[in-house]
Amino acid sequence: MLLVIGTTNLAKGRELTELLAPHGFLVKTLQEFSTSIEVVEDGATFADNARRKASQQAKHLGRWVLADDSGLEVHALQGAPGIYSARYAGQDASDADNNAKLLAELEAIPGNKRGARYYCHVSVADPSGTVRAESSGVCGGRIRSEGSGSNGFGYDPLFEVVEYHATFGQLGLHVKRALSHRGRAMRAVVPKLVCIASQGEWDD
Ligand code: IMP
Repeated sequence: MLLVIGTTNLAKGRELTELLAPHGFLVKTLQEFSTSIEVVEDGATFADNARRKASQQAKHLGRWVLADDSGLEVHALQGAPGIYSARYAGQDASDADNNAKLLAELEAIPGNKRGARYYCHVSVADPSGTVRAESSGVCGGRIRSEGSGSNGFGYDPLFEVVEYHATFGQLGLHVKRALSHRGRAMRAVVPKLVCIASQGEWDD
């Protein structure tokens, strides 16, 4: 069961690959397909964007494609950066730029009002571009006033998992896999894929 991971974000691709590996999928990344396309993420929601990424890439490659769209929603910022998480500080912003902007926006907000959540929507499309399985997952936490740890990516050094008194930057990948928005969304979508495969619909 060949499944292409429809992301160019290497850290995210690694997390998705690890979450799929135990379930018998042959996982490939977009880096292995020189003809992959850049899908414009102009949807209004995480779900819209995940569907676009999965469907357009699947149709173009003629393969099953799994794509996620994910981001950080901060309560004190009315859900920002949300679907703009990757480019919060500008079109070509780095993780460091985005984290610096987030800290600046939250400067006046006290510790007990810095609640946030990560959100992830996963969509899987078949080679015709039809979305065949979807799920979403959330992970609650709070935004620290300075970064800690170098694991993960994006906002992870600032995102504290309250029960662990530690950020995803400090916690290992195995903990992130268990608790994260992406881990939860993937655990919900995998049984749907296994069911499709068991009906003999997945022929490579
Ligand atoms: P996407 O690739 O368009 O879905 O954008 C995802 C963006 O959301 C990333 O570039 C990060 O800024 C943020 N994000 C999503 N998931 C995570 C995560 O697990 N850790 C840290 N940041 C994340």
